[in-house]
Amino acid sequence: MEQGKEDLKPLSVAYIADMTYKYHAGHYYSRFLRELRDNRLIAGVKCPKCGKVYVPPRIVCRDCFVRMEEFVPVSQEGTLLAFTVTNFHYIDTTTGEPKKIPFTTAFIKLDGADSNIVHRLDETDEKKIKAGMRLRAVFSNNRTGDYFHDIDHFSIVKDM
Ligand SMILES: [Zn+2]
Repeated sequence: MEQGKEDLKPLSVAYIADMTYKYHAGHYYSRFLRELRDNRLIAGVKCPKCGKVYVPPRIVCRDCFVRMEEFVPVSQEGTLLAFTVTNFHYIDTTTGEPKKIPFTTAFIKLDGADSNIVHRLDETDEKKIKAGMRLRAVFSNNRTGDYFHDIDHFSIVKDM
């Protein structure tokens, strides 16, 4: 079959999905979510061989390949490693609703953790945000076992 210009033109496919979807979070992530919901604790898991702490918890150390079973709390404060401020129309992939813009996504290393997390930062003026800033988790009062809800957002620590 000979390829003409028409073959290179992308096609559009209409697709509307309205479905409720649930999945099992697994034992380790479930424990992480329960600690957030019930105790306002951010839980990690510690490698018995190298001592690295992973947040959220995972079963096997990525460096040592050994099973990790010691759950440890980490700090609710940490350091901002990187961020992006989104200023364009955006659909929340969880709810399907348009997100309120602008919003800031932060890449954070919590004190006591050796891995990093992603969450929302409540400052959207990029002139006021710098990598290396100290951040603190702000929890929702009505927690439900949802990472992006139970930790509502992170705020810049101003009392340093
Ligand atoms: Zn290890």
